[in-house]
Amino acid sequence: MRVEFNANGIHLPEIGLWLDPKETCDAAWLSHGHAGHASAPRCTIFGTKETLNLYRIRRPEQENLPQDLRPVEFGQPFEFGKARLTAYPAGHILGAAQLLVEYDGERLLYTGDVKLREPLCGLATEVLPCDHLIVESTFGLPIYHFLSAAEARDRMIDFAQTCLAEEITPVFLGYPLGPAQEIVHTLCAEGIPTAVDGAIARFLPEYERSGYAFPGWVPESGAAAGRALVVAPGTRNYLEASGRQARVAYVSGWACLDNARTRAGAEELIPYSDHADFEELMELVERSEAREIDVIHGYTEPFARILQLRGRVARAPSAAAYRDEAEG
Ligand SMILES: [Zn+2]
Repeated sequence: MRVEFNANGIHLPEIGLWLDPKETCDAAWLSHGHAGHASAPRCTIFGTKETLNLYRIRRPEQENLPQDLRPVEFGQPFEFGKARLTAYPAGHILGAAQLLVEYDGERLLYTGDVKLREPLCGLATEVLPCDHLIVESTFGLPIYHFLSAAEARDRMIDFAQTCLAEEITPVFLGYPLGPAQEIVHTLCAEGIPTAVDGAIARFLPEYERSGYAFPGWVPESGAAAGRALVVAPGTRNYLEASGRQARVAYVSGWACLDNARTRAGAEELIPYSDHADFEELMELVERSEAREIDVIHGYTEPFARILQLRGRVARAPSAAAYRDEAEG
């Protein structure tokens, strides 16, 4: 099966399908609802129901464009031209899916953004045997080792309760789609009063439709004494403006880095991510039994080199253009 990598995304020319394209095309697969993947393809778009809903929330201006949104179910194969396509859970964020493409006797698996360990909100990832694997490597270096969901939940709750007992506002920094909803869900489920920034709150209803509860959350209003606060990284002005006493926790894969405290302005580092860490990526590759591997996003060249040293046929196609935001 021919696979072409270019600035618009990944193209399967024999099938006529693009994977996470950035620009207009005839037919596209959207792996999940993050902006770097769900850009602006005006065409037939396949994705899970949740991904298409998140895409609509992100891109309201797309409402009147001639798009044909086609929701697909996990594990339900469908025909596309001469290929058979099947979506499988990818763990990453709500609705995130891997795509298995079966064509001319070959199985190609495109992971999109993926994690192996079960997320706090979302489905466990299925690892599928394939001939050709296209895998992400956002955290594809051995320095990245993340907490499990249970460990991250304990750390978040402990941090929030300790701060509130000292009448200090616990502030959590989390990427605004995916990690942040997991933080809010964790705090609310524990009964911790929680205020949520609007950039994060706008996605809560879609998570609620999928069964994740956020009991008692309130919008961040600048006066949240006695509450935990969940905001996106980089939004610290509210603290200075209100003069509140606060301590900041950074929940991210990037919290593994030595300079994470300075970089995020956080005292507490909680290395939990919606992406796979290095060991999960290695496990995914091993269990896929893929004969050839293309590595995209993040540490593509070193991760492909590590796979080559372990006897794999691995490449790092020029993929810098695929990621335009620092997820994690
Ligand atoms: Zn993503």
